[in-house]
Amino acid sequence: MFKNLLPSKIRVRIAPSPTGQLHFGTARTALFNFLFARANNGVFLVRIEDTDVERSKKEFEKDILDNLTWLGISWDEEIIRQSERKKIYHPYIKKLLEKDLAYYCFCQAEDLEAIKAEQMSRGEAPRYSGHCQSIKPEIAQERITQGEKSIIRLRVPQKNIEFEDLVKGKITYDASLFGDFVIAKNEDEPIYNLAVVIDDFESRISHIIRGEDHISNTPKQIIIQKMLDFPRPHYIHLPLILNPDRSKMSKRKNITSIKDYREDGFLKEALINFIAFLGWNPKTNTEIFSLEKLITEFSIKGIQKAGAVFNLQKLEWFNNYYIKHLPLETLFELSKDYFQNCQDKEKIKKIISLQKDRVKKLSEFKTNSKFFFELPNYEGQLLIWKNSPNDLILNNLKKIKSEFEKINNSDFVFINLKKIIDGLVGESGSGEIYWPLRTALSGLKESPPPLEIAEIIGQKESLIRIEQAMELLKSELTG
Ligand code: GLU
Ligand code: ZN
Repeated sequence: MFKNLLPSKIRVRIAPSPTGQLHFGTARTALFNFLFARANNGVFLVRIEDTDVERSKKEFEKDILDNLTWLGISWDEEIIRQSERKKIYHPYIKKLLEKDLAYYCFCQAEDLEAIKAEQMSRGEAPRYSGHCQSIKPEIAQERITQGEKSIIRLRVPQKNIEFEDLVKGKITYDASLFGDFVIAKNEDEPIYNLAVVIDDFESRISHIIRGEDHISNTPKQIIIQKMLDFPRPHYIHLPLILNPDRSKMSKRKNITSIKDYREDGFLKEALINFIAFLGWNPKTNTEIFSLEKLITEFSIKGIQKAGAVFNLQKLEWFNNYYIKHLPLETLFELSKDYFQNCQDKEKIKKIISLQKDRVKKLSEFKTNSKFFFELPNYEGQLLIWKNSPNDLILNNLKKIKSEFEKINNSDFVFINLKKIIDGLVGESGSGEIYWPLRTALSGLKESPPPLEIAEIIGQKESLIRIEQAMELLKSELTG
C-alpha cells in the first residue's frame, strides 16, 4: 500500500561486479557507504552483481570480500548475489511485459550493428530503432516457442528525466536519446539496470552512493522505478578518481587493486585514510583520520564535486606516518616475512626500528636491509670523506679497528661505541671518522648511521667489514 514511500531508516549498499580484484574505486564506494551507514545508525549491505556469467568469477568475489574485511569495512545482513535471485526478478519482468511497458525484440546482433553504424555515419547517437516495438505479445510468444532468439526491451518514454543528486544538484537527461534499451535476457534474467532497481527496492535502499561513472544509468533506473511504482532513493554520485595528469584512473597508469598495495606493505590504516580523501574533505587542516574518527566526522556535505586526483606520494606519506606510529612488536609481526633468511627476532626488531622512520612501505624493509646480512660490493673511493687524503682515512679506520678489538663482545653496544668513536672524533674530525666507518659497515652511499649498524651486525662482522675497507683503500693507494 505504502510501497512507494522511502524507508525512514538509512540503508545503503555497495554492489560490486566480481569481474576483477577489489580496486580503489570500489573500495572508496564501500568506505563512503559504510561511513554514512555507521554515522547514521543505518545498515550497510553488500550485493554481488554477478549477472555477467562469463566475466564473473568466485575468486574475484573472494578477493573483494577478503580485502574489504582486511580494511575494516564490515557489512550487515547476508550478502546478496544476483545470480541466486531469478525467482525474485521473474514477477517484475512479467509485470512489465503484461503492462506492455516492455516487449520482446528479435533483432539479430548483425542487424543492430548495421543500424548503429548507419546512425553514427549520420552523426547521430546510436540507439535502438524501435523495429520490434509493435510485435503483438501472442506473435512474440509463438516466435519464442519456435526457438527464435530474443531479448526484452523497455518502452522508454520520450521525455526529460530529472533528478536531484545530493552532491551535484539537479540533473536532467533527455530520455528520447536512450532508445528502448535492453532490460532482460528473458523472463528470469534481468540485465544490469533492471536488476539494480529491483534489488535496491527489495533491500529498501534509502541512499545510492556510487561512482560518477554510473550517473548516466541513473535516469534509466528512474524510468524503471516509476514503471514498477517504486520509491526513488536519494542519489549521491562520487567524483571520478583521476590520474595526476587528470585522465581517468586506469590500470595502465597506476596499480589499482587493493591486494597489490597490501602485498607491497601498505597498512590498512594508511589506505583507509588515503581513500577517505579521494573525494571527501573534512574542511579542517587535520589529515590523520582513523576509521573510528572518520565515522564521527564523515558527512555527505564534505563530498566534493570535482574529480579526485590519485596521488601516490600522498599515499606513501600516510603509510610512512602510520608505520612510524605502530608499536615495534606489531611492525615486526607485519614485516617478519621480509626477513626470511634470518631467525633472530631481536636483530630483526632492531633493523626495523632503525629504518621505520624512513620507509614508505613495509616491503622496503626487505630491499633496504640486505646490507645487514651481506655487504654489497663498493668502490674504495666511497670511503673518502670530501677531499681528505686516502692515507688519513686509512689511518682512521685502523684506529677504529684497534679500539673495536679491545671491547668485550658483550659490551659491543651503541652507547659504548659512541664513547670510543667520539674520543677519536676529537682527534680527527667528525666526517673523517663517521663517514668511512659508515661506508665500511654498509657498503652504501646512503644508510642509517654507523654505530647502530655496528651494534646490529655485531663485533665480529664489524671488524671483518672494517678490515675489508682497509684492504680496498690500500689497494687504491698502491694501485
Ligand atoms: N555493479 C556496479 C559496479 O560494479 C555498481 C552498480 C551500482 O552501484 O549501482 O560498478
Ligand atoms: Zn528488435
